[in-house]
Amino acid sequence: MGTAVVHYTAAAVTDRGRKRPSNEDAFGFSVENGVYVVCDGMGGAAAGEIASSLAVDEVLRALNGRAKPDNHAAPVPELAGQAIFAANQAIFSRSQRNQKLSGMGTTLVGLIVEESRTWVVNIGDSRCYRLRGRRLEQLTEDHSLVEEQVRMGRMTRTEAQRSPLKNVITRALGTQNRITPDIFEFEAQPNDLFLLCSDGLTRELSDALIESLLSVDLALEELCARLVNAAKKAGGHDNITCLLVRAAS
Ligand code: CA
Repeated sequence: MGTAVVHYTAAAVTDRGRKRPSNEDAFGFSVENGVYVVCDGMGGAAAGEIASSLAVDEVLRALNGRAKPDNHAAPVPELAGQAIFAANQAIFSRSQRNQKLSGMGTTLVGLIVEESRTWVVNIGDSRCYRLRGRRLEQLTEDHSLVEEQVRMGRMTRTEAQRSPLKNVITRALGTQNRITPDIFEFEAQPNDLFLLCSDGLTRELSDALIESLLSVDLALEELCARLVNAAKKAGGHDNITCLLVRAAS
């Protein structure tokens, strides 16, 4: 039945970076439940922190204790959709009730695993990458104005990187009544390494550099520290979060 991936290990680091006064990123995971999440909040310090941590908590809670092999839980994409709906409602209703939190929101990138079956959930411009062998591949598409222009062939990658609009994201959790996440499934292979991260990492480091920093045989904690330290060295303009998940046979 499928490939031989039977368990996962994970580690994460989040860092304020060198310029921002607070850290609006949040992460959470449960190896036992096979759920891993990174969120990048927005809306001003307190509001951004609230939005990102609410999203992490809601998604972990909604997917907790799901799908033991012998019970009949809903399929993962359905559960993930419900989790996103709950997180969106929690943030949106809180921002409606409190003027100071008005307009707060967050990105969310999540990985859900069951043996070798994996699902990626994405809203916004945090990213999921997979290192397989020594090749790094971005699995998610950014929901940002410039990336959408690039996908439509209206802007080059270089123009996108230089654009004053590069911070504009087109989907965020909690800013509207309804939200549609990207959810897609693929097979994991033994030794696949998944990276969930906020844009504080990917704006400082090229994919080629991330690939080389990850292509060494170190503990996941040390790999996370390598990435975060490199992003800080490159400027650390934003909060930086890395969550690594390794598949093992
Ligand atoms: Ca950010």
